[in-house]
Amino acid sequence: MEYVIVGSGIVGLYTAYHLLDKCDRNGKSIVVVAEYLPGDESVNFTSPYAGGNFSCISGSDKETLEYDKFTYINLLKIRETLGGPSCGLDYCYSTEYWDEIPPKEKIDNLLTYLEDMKILGAEELVRGTKYGIRFKSFSFNCPVFIQSMKRYLEERGVQFKRQKLDHINQAFCTDTKAVFNCTGLGSFKLCGVNDSKMHPVRGQVLVVKAPHITENTMRWGKDYATYIIKRPYSNDQLVLGGFLQKDSWASETYSEQNDDILRRTTELVPEILTKNPTGHKLENLEVMRSAAGLRPFREGGTRIEKQIVNGKPLIHNYGAAGYGYQAGFGMAARAISFLQEAKL
Ligand SMILES: Cc1cc2nc3c(=O)[nH]c(=O)nc-3n(C[C@H](O)[C@H](O)[C@H](O)COP(=O)(O)OP(=O)(O)OC[C@H]3O[C@@H](n4cnc5c(N)ncnc54)[C@H](O)[C@@H]3O)c2cc1C
Repeated sequence: MEYVIVGSGIVGLYTAYHLLDKCDRNGKSIVVVAEYLPGDESVNFTSPYAGGNFSCISGSDKETLEYDKFTYINLLKIRETLGGPSCGLDYCYSTEYWDEIPPKEKIDNLLTYLEDMKILGAEELVRGTKYGIRFKSFSFNCPVFIQSMKRYLEERGVQFKRQKLDHINQAFCTDTKAVFNCTGLGSFKLCGVNDSKMHPVRGQVLVVKAPHITENTMRWGKDYATYIIKRPYSNDQLVLGGFLQKDSWASETYSEQNDDILRRTTELVPEILTKNPTGHKLENLEVMRSAAGLRPFREGGTRIEKQIVNGKPLIHNYGAAGYGYQAGFGMAARAISFLQEAKL
């Protein structure tokens, strides 16, 4: 196969999609090789566990701001290509609050492209916060969205192959033109890559049934994030989070963390309880699931760079931390630009 993408999480899928749609490559020339595929669940596969929406969780460096913007302005087109909102992607208004004033470069950049973005007045802030914005965001139904992506790619001829690689060199065959390494946290252990800058940042979420909540709300503190994300096309699931635990590899969930999530999210949006049609106490909330996932965080930011292995390009594209859905299409564009430069 000419183009081999190792990894079938959101970053590998966006990369395959970009190769097909923006570079007009034949689907039959692309194979996605991965230990875990959309539909699977494993602590070694982050993408099904994301919240996931477009928010201000990502960094304020120039590259990340560009990746976010490129993804946001392309998401509507991607949604239409995948068959409309039922693919697991829909618009949703979002309000974000900060305990401290966020970086000016971030806000200035967001103002250039977020739809209906408004900076909140002091009277609109929640107690203890110093800054807030409201805008038209996107919410993903992550498990559904990655399966819709896989289906679309397969319909266009892309092959998916289940295989765990011990060494990245195993991805190369005689007719290979380029390999993309989109293994996320797997890049920590994969021989030939062994990136010691990779760390897990563990998150835990609670999913509750909440037809009465129709918008997203986030609060960013120094070492914590509290978020409420409406999951589209999910029979009224609401994702409540969260935790940001660096270097924790734990896949189990903890009841004391669930209690803390419920306390913080219902303080931030009391309507979760006060408008709940099944009762106004915590015990009246229908808890559907608790889950933990490991964000693929990389010290110094994402790694998107070309390396030559036995005369052929190995293009790394990983380290999306807590923003693979909202920045991953921009990351894919950057990764594929190396291919275009080499005229491959
Ligand atoms: C609780 C939580 C909430 C989040 N919320 C959001 C959000 O709201 N918005 C957002 O944008 N992001 C969010 N994220 C982050 C997002 O989930 C990640 O950035 C994204 O899933 C990373 O995707 P990936 O493709 O890089 O990695 P993964 O999804 O982990 O995929 C890696 C792929 O590589 C394969 N692989 C790895 N090693 C090997 C090997 N040796 N051989 C073969 N295959 C291999 C795996 O099997 C898998 O297919 C959240 C994450 C968590 C945990």
